[in-house]
Amino acid sequence: NRQWVLASRPHGEPSRDNFRLEETAIPSVTEGTVLLRTVYLSLDPYMRGRMSDAPSYAPPVEIDQVMVGGTVSRVVESRHADFKSGDWVLGFTGWQDYALSDGTALTNLGQQPENPSYTLGVMGMPGFTAYMGLTDIGKPKAGETLVVAAATGPVGATVGQIGKIKGMRVVGIAGGEEKCRYVVETLGFDACINHRAEDFEAQLEAACDAGIDVYYENVGGKVFDAVLPLLNTSARIPVCGVVAQYNATDLPAGPDRLPLLMTTILKKRLTVRGFIIFDDYGHRFDEFFNEMSRWVDEGRIHYREEIKQGLENAPEAFNGLLRGDNFGKLVIQVGER
Ligand code: NDP
Repeated sequence: NRQWVLASRPHGEPSRDNFRLEETAIPSVTEGTVLLRTVYLSLDPYMRGRMSDAPSYAPPVEIDQVMVGGTVSRVVESRHADFKSGDWVLGFTGWQDYALSDGTALTNLGQQPENPSYTLGVMGMPGFTAYMGLTDIGKPKAGETLVVAAATGPVGATVGQIGKIKGMRVVGIAGGEEKCRYVVETLGFDACINHRAEDFEAQLEAACDAGIDVYYENVGGKVFDAVLPLLNTSARIPVCGVVAQYNATDLPAGPDRLPLLMTTILKKRLTVRGFIIFDDYGHRFDEFFNEMSRWVDEGRIHYREEIKQGLENAPEAFNGLLRGDNFGKLVIQVGER
């Protein structure tokens, strides 16, 4: 049983040395437990926060502990009434080949789910995050302009497509021309701006000629700086994540923007609200799941995965996620289906 444990806490960008691959015995099933073999491991930006012991909304992974993470697994052996051998399950068993579970926080997906890995993306935590942040905090209205960055990732891609369903003008931001083409041609956004372009700020302003009514915040950094002057009166900002800052070790370069931010919040009467998806909205998961299932079935929401092979490649793939190397939801295929 291979397991990736946290070897040390990163300073800035994580490196391979912050992780250690260990080999342990496959656990034995006892009464009331199931043995799970990981098929898919989800890699997500929040994991950078768990590697750090800075105060946060969730406790950190301890040194020498297995890295946490959402997984889709198959039941190898069961002595639990709710699971039988061969069942697919959604769980939170981390960066390892096998795990023993007493059934807590396991969802049985049945013997032949259609797209089991989707429960790590559009039909699971990231899709739910997109749905609640946009609909509950963003309060979308037809004809308004929505801007969202990380637009090819599982959160951003879903946010923009829901915005289109709600009749908004949607402007995506992504890293690179190829990603931007996909956002417009496949996801159906009205425009997409490459944040690496030299005249990024001017391009964003031109794409938002009626200003910005909802800015779904995924990244922070220079994208936020470019968005701030374009916000309309009464704009809403669901603050979902600031991935551009997760590896930061210092304050950003340049002048202090806090006075400008506070003045803009005041003069434009902005609503700025953070949220932690399951803490704040766990009770609304079924509503999301039903609506999203319908949209995906009807082809109104497209979903792209980047599936990388091999548990051994998880640390490199994770570090790439924070730089934008992924194109779609990053998933590691750990074992055979
Ligand atoms: P993604 O798969 O979209 O991966 C992150 C993306 O961020 C990268 O692919 C990259 O895309 C982009 N990015 C990285 N650095 C920068 C930068 N400096 N400037 C602009 N873009 C950058 O991730 P997710 O869809 O899983 O997550 C998106 C956000 O949602 C994250 O901030 C995450 O922490 C947050 N989140 C919050 C939750 C909550 O409960 N509040 C729950 C789930 C996610 P590109 O190449 O296009 O720049």
